[in-house]
Amino acid sequence: MEERLQKILSQGGVASRREAERLISAGRVAVNGEVVTELGSKADPAKDRITLDGKPVSVGGTRYYILLNKPVGYVTTLKDPGGRPIVTDLLKGVGARVFPVGRLDYNTEGLLLLTNDGEWANRLAHPRHEVDKEYLVRVRGRVNPEQLQRLSGGLELDDGPTAPAQVRSQRESDNNTWLSITIHEGRYRQVRRMCEAVGLTVVRLRRIRYGALKLGELKPGEFRLLTGAEVAELV
Ligand code: URA
Repeated sequence: MEERLQKILSQGGVASRREAERLISAGRVAVNGEVVTELGSKADPAKDRITLDGKPVSVGGTRYYILLNKPVGYVTTLKDPGGRPIVTDLLKGVGARVFPVGRLDYNTEGLLLLTNDGEWANRLAHPRHEVDKEYLVRVRGRVNPEQLQRLSGGLELDDGPTAPAQVRSQRESDNNTWLSITIHEGRYRQVRRMCEAVGLTVVRLRRIRYGALKLGELKPGEFRLLTGAEVAELV
């Protein structure tokens, strides 16, 4: 079935639709060897050979949507120059090249989504798409009411203010406190930086919810496929 080129490229994970339009206009996309620069152009992902800068773009095929409980000690990039383990190493038996939706730090564990549907991933990652993400954070020592209030009210970080967050605390012992922090932004190391900004030391960070999706009973390193309803509900 013929579809617009920018849709095919974004579904294939090449770029967002808008970026795909720019790539097409710049003359970097070809269909069956012919450069296409017109934005309304269509192609059939099942029949046509689509290339970007002369390299084939993989399009069509089965879409995978995966929920992984990422263990500590894995990177969420697809290559690590330092040779550290990569999250996709954990997806034995998944017969497709999937990539993470967003990032979790090397030392962060918990709910990570992976897919080979570029369009779905782009929609989730778009700043206007506000999905609640809940983290359990173990911090050293006690947390005082002022720290809680600053975390939940919005803080000034070096890349700008954070939006208000939902924060609950539960003291574990004199040595540690567990915080539940729910944010809908997804900035670089945001939860760690929020905690640092109020003088708290993070000793463990685990994402337990992404929108309506919960980590559930999956053990670190285990994963499951999302249902069609879960995939549709998120976007
Ligand atoms: N916030 C962080 O600081 N790290 C993560 O991995 C996710 C959210």
